[in-house]
Amino acid sequence: MSKILIVEDEEAIADLEKDYLELSGFEVEIENRGDTGLDKALNEDYDLLILDLMLPEVDGFEICRQVREKKNMPIIMVSAKKDDIDKIRGLGLGADDYITKPFSPSEMVARVKAHLARYDRLIGSGQKTNDVIEIRGIKIDKTARRVWVNGEEKQFTTKEFDLLTFLAENPNHVFTKEELFREIWDMESIGDIATVTVHIKKIREKIEFNTAKPQYIETIWGVGYRFKA
Ligand code: CA
Repeated sequence: MSKILIVEDEEAIADLEKDYLELSGFEVEIENRGDTGLDKALNEDYDLLILDLMLPEVDGFEICRQVREKKNMPIIMVSAKKDDIDKIRGLGLGADDYITKPFSPSEMVARVKAHLARYDRLIGSGQKTNDVIEIRGIKIDKTARRVWVNGEEKQFTTKEFDLLTFLAENPNHVFTKEELFREIWDMESIGDIATVTVHIKKIREKIEFNTAKPQYIETIWGVGYRFKA
């Protein structure tokens, strides 16, 4: 449910806005002063802000400016005077919409819905989903670099994570220790390939139910390892 903050010093107007918005299924809070309104808008989570222009203590211009700097949510500014609206537009404070009092509550609700939908689209399209690999109870979130085994999160060192991810991304492919060493440690395979063995052992301790009978990373004797899909 979307949560809306109304900063408005005229109680009758604030209540009217709240009633209509609640009827449309929104959760609504009211602040009657500019300073408390600003504080709430900055420090609590709202999906949209309805902001009166003339307010005690801190006016709507200042609230709009400060909220815009820190928060990404639609701001609808409300004013009694058409002149004020022109002034706000001119200042380029970044409000998303302007409504002149008196206004029709149903029109206000329609605008609120339109702005929320627009922000959802913007944020939705800008949000990248994490790159996740899931194989038989193992979930690897490559973006967050986190691993879960049967729903339980396990901690991996950087190289353990890289090695596990590389194997899981290439299931049923047998890699020699040399190949894995080159792939993960990123140098010519002059180094100690026993490092690979050590890392495989540590990974198995975290993902395998029984390390003597690995279900995920199998040893192919005389060749190397493979991740069984
Ligand atoms: Ca006012």
